[in-house]
Amino acid sequence: MIVVMKLGSSDEQVAGVIKRIEAAGLKEHLSRGVERTIIGVLGRTFPELRDMLEMLPGVDEVIPVSKPYKLCSREFHPQDTTVKVGGTTIGGNEIVVIAGPCAVENEQQLLETAKAVKAAGATILRGGVFKPSTSPYHFRGLGEPGLQLLAQIKKETGLPVITEVMSPHEVELVASYADILQIGARNMQNFNLLEEVGRSGKPAMLKRGLSATVQEWLLAAEYILAQGNQQLMLCERGIRTFETYTRNTMDISVIPVIEKVSHLPIIADPSHGTGKWYLVAPMALAAAAAGADGLMIEVHPNPDLALKDGAQSLNFGNFQQFMSQLRPVAAAVGRSVASPPLEVKS
Ligand code: PEP
Ligand code: MN
Repeated sequence: MIVVMKLGSSDEQVAGVIKRIEAAGLKEHLSRGVERTIIGVLGRTFPELRDMLEMLPGVDEVIPVSKPYKLCSREFHPQDTTVKVGGTTIGGNEIVVIAGPCAVENEQQLLETAKAVKAAGATILRGGVFKPSTSPYHFRGLGEPGLQLLAQIKKETGLPVITEVMSPHEVELVASYADILQIGARNMQNFNLLEEVGRSGKPAMLKRGLSATVQEWLLAAEYILAQGNQQLMLCERGIRTFETYTRNTMDISVIPVIEKVSHLPIIADPSHGTGKWYLVAPMALAAAAAGADGLMIEVHPNPDLALKDGAQSLNFGNFQQFMSQLRPVAAAVGRSVASPPLEVKS
């Protein structure tokens, strides 16, 4: 359940409610909005608690939350969450484009790609260095030297970077280089990893699992939020269906679903969502029209030679063309496309 405090309720009254929640053996989660303070009650609540809390001074109403996920629900947090990375805000009116190679391969590949995607209008650079791989015989990433390359190219281009972290004991290491921690589809229910990312306090992006329902995905997000990390966004990357023409089935409908039930920003990844480069732009445009807060696109200088996911990667020309299509689509739904940082920060 959630406790909605009256407009202008005092700190003392909020403290009184928290004390009562704790006395019942439950935990609270405080959310102070511009207008209202809302206190989430976490744990096994009981019907009498509603009346007890409703009688306390400063309480406006107590609303039972019907959904199993709480901290990520709109009921608990009506305003959109925004994630701040460098000078970019994700979850506001601007659509943020995250682009770069599936995997960091070498300095030249990363630098060339970063410059090209920035020139075309991307705001954040992606590049995997710890690669989850279905086959142990495929390229599994450069590891820490790849993180160093990401940090170097970030310095040279001013683009913040996102990269995947696969295990709880690597969270500290990856967080020391990256601006955003990515949790991949295969790790959506690695609960120890989720909690460690939650404890890191670092901006994070949680991808939807290969066959995860919306509820399973949001409950996974709950693990991160419950550790006190509110800088979280979700990413739809396609789900497994009976269809084999595409690598996954890109679930565009989940974008407005997430917007309805959760306050977290939603990113769309049509590269993994389709597995085919020529489907990336149409699905990215559809995702933008459906309300995505950001798009994650794989780009490679020479997709035919990519060590990973070449078939779904755009070359520079195709990426640039896509960006010019994106701007009018964003404008048509009352949004704009975020601009890359002008200055290179030293
Ligand atoms: C990736 O972004 O490179 C990746 C491995 O994605 P996913 O976890 O969605 O398969
Ligand atoms: Mn990939």
